[in-house]
Amino acid sequence: MLEYDYPLFRPPAEANNVILQVTLGCSYNRCSFCSMYKTKSYQAKNMDEIKRDIETLAYSYPDATKVFLADGDALALPSEQLFTILKYLDEKFPKLRRVSTYASTQNLTEKSNKELEELCKSKLNLIYYGVETGSDVVLKKITKGVNQSEIIETLNKASHAGMKISATVILGIGGEKYSSLHVEESAKVINATTVTYLSTLQLGLEENAKENFYKHFEDFTMPNDEQLLHEQKNFLELLEPKSKTIFRSNHASNALHLKGNLPKDRDRLVDELAEAIHVGKSAFIPEMFRGF
Ligand code: SF4
Repeated sequence: MLEYDYPLFRPPAEANNVILQVTLGCSYNRCSFCSMYKTKSYQAKNMDEIKRDIETLAYSYPDATKVFLADGDALALPSEQLFTILKYLDEKFPKLRRVSTYASTQNLTEKSNKELEELCKSKLNLIYYGVETGSDVVLKKITKGVNQSEIIETLNKASHAGMKISATVILGIGGEKYSSLHVEESAKVINATTVTYLSTLQLGLEENAKENFYKHFEDFTMPNDEQLLHEQKNFLELLEPKSKTIFRSNHASNALHLKGNLPKDRDRLVDELAEAIHVGKSAFIPEMFRGF
């Protein structure tokens, strides 16, 4: 039985896949809205321990085809270590098709094009990437440590290397004041890149993140559900993805669950949002059934 270091986070889409912890925490850990890894200091796990974990997982799930590398940004590991891990995974899971991880702009900047291509060929072929917002004003206020052009550049770098990207935009992250800017600039990022999966979730601030968040974002006021659905509708209306993009808004935080393929289903999704806004609160998922 594998002993994980908690808290342990993984994307909803990885719920049925093997989770292998190769790092602990997040190498950046300074986004003001995020409290996921505040109880952990970033560190790489020891390679012998990782290999033992792979053996244990392979024994329990010999037919697994997909493995998610945790924690917050396993792509922060030096490429040589990642290659060792990927090679061992391939040896121990004969049916392995996909390895995925969370990845940041910083991680992707540090890797060369060649390294990303080789990682992708070694089956690390899906990254989960928190765009959060495309607005430079908002990115600064949430202390994301990157700007819009760096986000576009690194997303394109990953997709040119052959990696699939699952990108997330956070509804409400600009507050009421920067809502339009957030939506317009986030759509610009998606339209300038090639993402395979796109999801929107609603901002939820944990108690232990609030003080730091408001310190950097003094003029922030939290939009209500209706405003967030308007934001989402405006965002969808501005999207012109370069290729087919699978859109999901089914995170536990969302007031309304949506799914479809863009651009094909955009009008239907916009209509569903308009209908929910028209009906009001009774059309939204009750808050008691939601979480962040
Ligand atoms: S949002 Fe992602 S990059 Fe930022 S601190 Fe949280 S885990 Fe790290």
